[in-house]
Amino acid sequence: MCALTAGQRGRRVLVVEHANRVGKKILMSGGGRCNFTNTGTGPGNFLSANPHFCKSALARYTPSDFIGLVEKHGIAYHEKELGQLFCDESSKQIVRMLLDECAAAGVRIETGCSIGRVASGDGGFAVESACGTFAAQSLAVASGGLSIPSMGASGFGYELARQFGHTVLPTRAGLVPLTLSGTHSERLQDLSGVSLPVEAECNGQSFRNAMLVTHRGVSGPSILQISSYWRPGDDLRLDLLPGQDALAFLQAQRQARPAAELKSALAEALPKRFAQRLCEIWFDNKPMRRYGERELRDIAAQLRRWPLVASGTEGYRTAEVTLGGVDTHELSSATMESKRMPGLYFIGEVVDVTGWLGGYNFQWAWASGHAAGEAV
Ligand SMILES: Cc1cc2nc3c(=O)[nH]c(=O)nc-3n(C[C@H](O)[C@H](O)[C@H](O)COP(=O)(O)OP(=O)(O)OC[C@H]3O[C@@H](n4cnc5c(N)ncnc54)[C@H](O)[C@@H]3O)c2cc1C
Repeated sequence: MCALTAGQRGRRVLVVEHANRVGKKILMSGGGRCNFTNTGTGPGNFLSANPHFCKSALARYTPSDFIGLVEKHGIAYHEKELGQLFCDESSKQIVRMLLDECAAAGVRIETGCSIGRVASGDGGFAVESACGTFAAQSLAVASGGLSIPSMGASGFGYELARQFGHTVLPTRAGLVPLTLSGTHSERLQDLSGVSLPVEAECNGQSFRNAMLVTHRGVSGPSILQISSYWRPGDDLRLDLLPGQDALAFLQAQRQARPAAELKSALAEALPKRFAQRLCEIWFDNKPMRRYGERELRDIAAQLRRWPLVASGTEGYRTAEVTLGGVDTHELSSATMESKRMPGLYFIGEVVDVTGWLGGYNFQWAWASGHAAGEAV
């Protein structure tokens, strides 16, 4: 996005990519259909030590701008849920679109080209690479985060930032499955594959969506979302009957099916195996008519704030994003230019701006890339 925007302004642009092709994360994103934006994107959908930083770029390159580009290229798309837009066919179309725009703007792209030393001087930069040494007035670092090393992710951008005196805020895996250990794992492990809607809550943030039990712990959109707000030791709670009044539900079950046991009553609202497990470990299982009001209140309270004791995350191997990164206090929010080194820009995921699940991370990549592309 940065390259094509700068190219359209008549700048001579070279993209240096060390992988054998560009846009690998676009290709693998959204299950191969690329959730390329979210129509509801706003600054509140991002995590950053400086929540105001993303506002300017997001306001100047909006989801509508990107949708306009997608439509110009005749790419069919649909909304899945919650403003998330996906290609009808393939994420390859998004990469093709960006490459076509780059070609039209005269952008040169070198793939399979690893970068060595980067030096500054004489009002510009000298970039030593496997395909030669390049001199440039401006250098935009779009090297992404640490997630999925097998796709070409590297700490290159962070190292370069440090080289030019930038602070890099501690990085950690985000939008990542959580792992369970010990008894917490044993209690759920054999339910692997079971999925249910929950509202996950941690540190004042909550997300209502599906949770999936895995062999190693829990995943699914609600867990991926909340993982970005969770750190080991933090209290993490699940509402197992989101959007429902748990007490009213239990009272209604007692009224309608007094002889039914709690596990069958709960199975009306939860997956059967999950309901059964709750009654084996957490609740006393007996016919509904034998529950007093206080007991029902107690069960309802537990269903609303069920504690999930996670031991960690699956880490960068499976994380969709990397939290932290280049400190935004040292970048211009209008252009993404370094305040320490004129001509140096940081865009996309390498910057300490991380979106929720749902197309926000690409929208940040497009918007920050566009902001820098107009300035380089
Ligand atoms: C499995 C998965 C699915 C995802 N799905 C979505 C989704 O549907 N919607 C969404 O909004 N976000 C999604 N994301 C997040 C999104 O892919 C990233 O936030 C986004 O790609 C960041 O863009 P970027 O340009 O900053 O970095 P990247 O897309 O990571 O690109 C960085 C590029 O720099 C190259 N590079 C790295 N180091 C060097 C080096 N030393 N020299 C030269 N080149 C280098 C890499 O090879 C790579 O091509 C997903 C992520 C993953 C892992």
